[in-house]
Amino acid sequence: MSESSTRPAPRVLGVAIPSPLRRLFDYRPGGETPAGGWQPGLRVRVTFGRRQVVGVILECRDASALPLETLKPVDACLDDAPLPDDWLWLCRFTARYYQHAAGDTLHQAMPALLRQGRSLEARTRERWRATPSATRESPGLARAPRQAELLAMLRQHPHGLVTQAVLAQSFSRDQLKALVDKGLVERLEEPRTATPTGQAGPLLAEPVLPLQREQAAALAVLHERLDGFHPCLLHGVTGSGKTEVYLQLIEAVVGRGHQALVLVPEIGLTPQTLARFRSRFRVPVVALHSGLTDHERLDAWEAAASGRAPIVIGTRSAIFTPLARPGAIIVDEEHDGSFKQQEGLRYHARDLAVARAHRHGIPLVLGSATPSLETLQRALAGDYRHLRLTQRASRHPPARLELVDLRGRPRRGGLIPPVMEAIEATLAAGHQVLVFINRRGFAPTLACHACGWMAECDHCDARMTLHRQPPLLACHHCDRRRALPDACPDCGSADLRPLGSGTERTEETLAERFPETPVHRIDRDSTRRRDALEQTLTEVRRGAPCLLVGTQMLAKGHHLPHVTLVVVVNADAGLYSSDFRALEHSAQLLEQVAGRAGRAAHPGRVLVQTLHADDPNLRLLAARGYDALAERLLEERRAAALPPFRHLALLRLESPREQAASELGGRAAGALREYLAERGLAVDCLGPVPAPMERRQNRYHLQVMLGADKRSRLHEAGAWLAAWLEAEPAARRVRWSLDIDPQTLS
Ligand code: ADP
Ligand code: ZN
Ligand code: ZN
Repeated sequence: MSESSTRPAPRVLGVAIPSPLRRLFDYRPGGETPAGGWQPGLRVRVTFGRRQVVGVILECRDASALPLETLKPVDACLDDAPLPDDWLWLCRFTARYYQHAAGDTLHQAMPALLRQGRSLEARTRERWRATPSATRESPGLARAPRQAELLAMLRQHPHGLVTQAVLAQSFSRDQLKALVDKGLVERLEEPRTATPTGQAGPLLAEPVLPLQREQAAALAVLHERLDGFHPCLLHGVTGSGKTEVYLQLIEAVVGRGHQALVLVPEIGLTPQTLARFRSRFRVPVVALHSGLTDHERLDAWEAAASGRAPIVIGTRSAIFTPLARPGAIIVDEEHDGSFKQQEGLRYHARDLAVARAHRHGIPLVLGSATPSLETLQRALAGDYRHLRLTQRASRHPPARLELVDLRGRPRRGGLIPPVMEAIEATLAAGHQVLVFINRRGFAPTLACHACGWMAECDHCDARMTLHRQPPLLACHHCDRRRALPDACPDCGSADLRPLGSGTERTEETLAERFPETPVHRIDRDSTRRRDALEQTLTEVRRGAPCLLVGTQMLAKGHHLPHVTLVVVVNADAGLYSSDFRALEHSAQLLEQVAGRAGRAAHPGRVLVQTLHADDPNLRLLAARGYDALAERLLEERRAAALPPFRHLALLRLESPREQAASELGGRAAGALREYLAERGLAVDCLGPVPAPMERRQNRYHLQVMLGADKRSRLHEAGAWLAAWLEAEPAARRVRWSLDIDPQTLS
């Protein structure tokens, strides 16, 4: 007998609807009663205003604030069983923590096909089979060699191939469609039965590496703590073999029949990383990345939710993967900025990982060579177990930074003569050089040598970057482009010169200076094609001497065994920023870049050009490394009452009309201050003040900052503020968002 007969039908369903409004909407049950009865977690199709939308039931009640007879019935229930429990919990936690509408949170955390109302149970998949009449010489293929190849492949598989298998051979959907249109291939639909991965035989596909002493000690600690919530910071220098520790931890987790979830930074989910996981285990490793189709994403979701996928690895949004038997969560490079979503639902995947591991009662490993001050502080305070790896797997210790004073020295392409000589010597020794420069384009701006005019964006408080390939001025904040002017718009002089260096200019200078040596530029412009980066890196890993010029795309994660010299063109960006986290982020990046040097047989050198060679923070970083600087920064943060010793929230307001934003900001801050005083709530409220770049995309940006010692107080204030804004008519004409634990103040 189905449960519906025992469970009394509720009279009211509180439904989370994809809308920015922070509330549920009440409906009556309607359509067919789901097999298990009405319950939270079922998706329903409802009429919302004039639209039909997919919502999720979060509450089943018998009463509503509205008269029951005015409630609309739901149009249909889309699920037989509720969406996974752990996933629902995480979404509700996220909505509460980040003061975000539950409906929108659920929607963002759901695979696109579920969002569109696709059924989870009755899914099918496509299979493609050559029709009996298809032959190699079929008409219409003479001029379509790829279609002919595809057909030949399909003919070798009498049962046909599923889409994924076809695409894996670099054929496209269009080619399949063309063959179907020609009547040479037929499309079959079959039920997507869960392929059981019932594990027989050994778990490992390759032997584990014998661990170094410190790795073994860290793993032993992790092995003792497989049950219960045990947060650990795996704090290991670059190249110390953190990944090997993860792999052996996962082996233990999966060996007990549990699942492991691994989060990596956006830049870190390379084919190389994935290959390392896949070649280790005989069980499937499900990867969640931006290249998946909607079907593949839903498959992965379902495989994780059903427990069929023992290992799930993905970037930020993978934190929202449901797990049937969670066993451990690992966050690699936990300090990485890409774990924080900077728009819409502004969650931090690392922080959600902590919440999730706590909820499940499972171990959590946060790994980094340069831990965030938040995580480091918790480890130093004893809240997290602090596991250290100080030795590299290759015997060479990570190279120290050598500061190179730029003052008064001629620069070409951003590089001064002694640095050029070091590059020359390294190439002559048969090694590779990595030149790190955190600006793409040819030069940060174009300036008039006669009057000092500089190219500025009409829409932002920012200079426009000069590009050579193709030649134009581009704003990196709003993407506006302009043709190069022939003459200075202010004084008419034709003496316009690039000011400073970007990747293109450094590349050009190096190519001129070292005509015999290949120069590879790696930045967002040069790697627009999806596989361009991997192709270049594969070439580089072959080991012939070469020069790599790149932005932070190059700085992180990649193993480049033949690089022995790293040059940082300019280390000064984060030194005197108004953002209190800038120095922390800058130091992390420098240490990561430096970590690219000397990872294999030869020791490395890291030359860091700076105009501030006397800066005490930079000197500390160079002399004693990130950990020493991080401890100093923590002291400063403590003294200044900044995170991690205080909790912040940032209200951002923007409008094309400056006055609309500042008026609303002023009223919101005023109302909040009154509320805080009334409640005697110890929360600071600062602002409104203009954002560091006040005008962006022709919109004015303002902010109000909230700060509190106790998170609960900050949350009370944030919730009140969000409610006030939601009820305020003027707030509908100003775009606003509340960022809990903001990572940047811009
Ligand atoms: P991290 O993630 O700490 O930067 P990796 O895990 O990428 O370091 O390891 C760096 C290199 O050292 C890799 O090539 C890896 O195969 C190798 N390695 C790691 N552990 C060992 C070990 N115990 N013995 C030998 N080589 C190791
Ligand atoms: Zn001029
Ligand atoms: Zn702009």
